[in-house]
Amino acid sequence: MAKRYGYKDYENYPVFQKFTDGLINEIADKNIDKFVVDLRNNTGGDSSLMTALVDKLASINKLKGKIYVMIGRETFSSGVMKGEFKLSNKVLDKCCCKSANEASQAMEENNLCPVCKSKGIKVKNYTVSNLVIDIFKESVGAADYYLCMKEQCDITYFNNETGTSFNKEQVKVPMWFKKDASPKYVCYCSKVTEEQVIDAVIKDGANNMKDVLKLTGAMKNSNCKKNNPLGKCCHEIIQEAINKGLSI
Ligand SMILES: [Zn+2]
Repeated sequence: MAKRYGYKDYENYPVFQKFTDGLINEIADKNIDKFVVDLRNNTGGDSSLMTALVDKLASINKLKGKIYVMIGRETFSSGVMKGEFKLSNKVLDKCCCKSANEASQAMEENNLCPVCKSKGIKVKNYTVSNLVIDIFKESVGAADYYLCMKEQCDITYFNNETGTSFNKEQVKVPMWFKKDASPKYVCYCSKVTEEQVIDAVIKDGANNMKDVLKLTGAMKNSNCKKNNPLGKCCHEIIQEAINKGLSI
């Protein structure tokens, strides 16, 4: 008796094999020179099902270098394996994060601050839109940005592709790492400053993250994606402040 769930070798999957053969014949007969495998909604299954098709596709000369695999958020497990199979010359990541790889690659070359030329850190549009003061909000547009981390530089967010940049006065909060930042927040969600963390270490004897968080209220109700200038969890910045306090 076969189990209700689980994989079984159904004699080489005759139905799928039939489909594969039909497909290969059709490619041979017709004027087809590109092939797209759409795995966007493929959440997985038995990988061996696809192997015969992959092998056959890979052996067709006129399709060499012209086989594309589309993957998406739902692609998983066997679906991902198929997507990464030897046939996949190119992966079109179309469905959810549209050409995410291409976009990030293009932006990597654009990560130098237009003023000080130092390397910026990538920040999502959502964060930048929230932190730029309201009158400049419209000029933020839809792109992601880089944040200039240079202490002496007045530039905060920049995007060299669109030629847009914002200085320290054009954002709602002081960037903790910039010169003369005041107050110097380490947790932007709970508005806890470096000074408060250092006080907790020196005056109250806290020497670990847990105690510091308890004493200062940092990281309570956090929404760092929105409030932190990097759009990231402030954990690391708090740790740096603790280290600073411990070294005093
Ligand atoms: Zn700069």
